[in-house]
Amino acid sequence: MIPFNIPPRVPKCSEYVLEAIENAKICGDGAFTKRCHAELEAMTGVRKALLTTSGTSALELGALLMNLQPGDEVIMPSFTFSSTANAIALRGAEIVFVDVEPDTMNMDVECVRAAITPKTKAIVPVHYAGVCCDMDELQKICDEHGLMMMEDAAQAVGSFYKGRPAGSMSDVGCFSFHETKNLSMGEGGAVLLNDPALIERAEIIREKGTDRSRFYRGQVDKYTWVDIGSSFLPSELNAAYLLAQLEEHEHINGRRMERWNQYHEAFAALESEGHLKRMTIPAHCTHNAHMYYILLNSLEERTVLISHLKQNGVSAVFHYIPLHSAEAGLKFGRFHGEDRYTTSQSERLLRLPMYYGLSEEEAQHVIDSVFSFFHK
Ligand SMILES: *Cc1c(COP(=O)(O)O)cnc(C)c1O
Repeated sequence: MIPFNIPPRVPKCSEYVLEAIENAKICGDGAFTKRCHAELEAMTGVRKALLTTSGTSALELGALLMNLQPGDEVIMPSFTFSSTANAIALRGAEIVFVDVEPDTMNMDVECVRAAITPKTKAIVPVHYAGVCCDMDELQKICDEHGLMMMEDAAQAVGSFYKGRPAGSMSDVGCFSFHETKNLSMGEGGAVLLNDPALIERAEIIREKGTDRSRFYRGQVDKYTWVDIGSSFLPSELNAAYLLAQLEEHEHINGRRMERWNQYHEAFAALESEGHLKRMTIPAHCTHNAHMYYILLNSLEERTVLISHLKQNGVSAVFHYIPLHSAEAGLKFGRFHGEDRYTTSQSERLLRLPMYYGLSEEEAQHVIDSVFSFFHK
């Protein structure tokens, strides 16, 4: 069976984890966490990267930083993971879901523009499949209306938009290092920040609302509770596992890209025969091969293809059930405008196996299995 995902692991993962254990400091913000911060800052060019316990908690930290409150509205795509929305709902703000554009499944800029009201406080673009949203246009909207922006770059570690790293282009960038992402620490994530005021407050929120970071730097002589906060820092064991991969992120993403290109070239023939639609990568985006998906012609066809692939030993999956039609989505948000693409495209989208370590032969077997479905 070719699984849908195998968590990434490089030889140094075990070496670093052992070293972390032997350092006898396994709580957060030790040597490995600091090295991860430095790697992330070098990789993205942001002033400050801070590890968190998950991509979810990075988004929650970001929502606290943006000071969201009841009465505020936050615009985001409906086609995303529940965590993007939970971060907003947990602050008591209202979620305004908008449609995606059909080519990238990213939030449609014109739909965002149309959804703005005097209550709008922030927008949360999601770089789906590691392909960046149109950040210049979104930034224009934020500037015109005085809005904050938080990037859900959970899937976009190592991606670029017009040469600028994903996660570095807004007030708060959020990464995920869950085991299904390109780089992993089991469960983990990071926030990426540039504004000194946000950095200072993020350090406090992340450390249970205390100014412990200032204390460690010798800026205050005792630390105390200064703001609301929570425990957002992961243990050194997780950071050590991640560091090994951060050091090899170009190699890891490069291997994924080889498989991505293999799929993409092979499926050109099926696309020209009208059997499926391949992913679209806009000219200004450099993606990270986070995902390879195809769009089938109908939900029924997708269902039959999934079982055909299963019979051939290939695990392929779909997601997301659009949030605006989910039970919690109805309670905590509303959809603005027309749902032209979110539901219809999500029903036809199929993700193929993609992970570091997927071999050329295995990817070829996936390709052959998709072909045998259409060329019966
Ligand atoms: C994975 C993911 C998250 C959540 O990250 P976790 O690390 O699993 O908490 C949030 N948003 C998107 C778009 C994701 O893909």
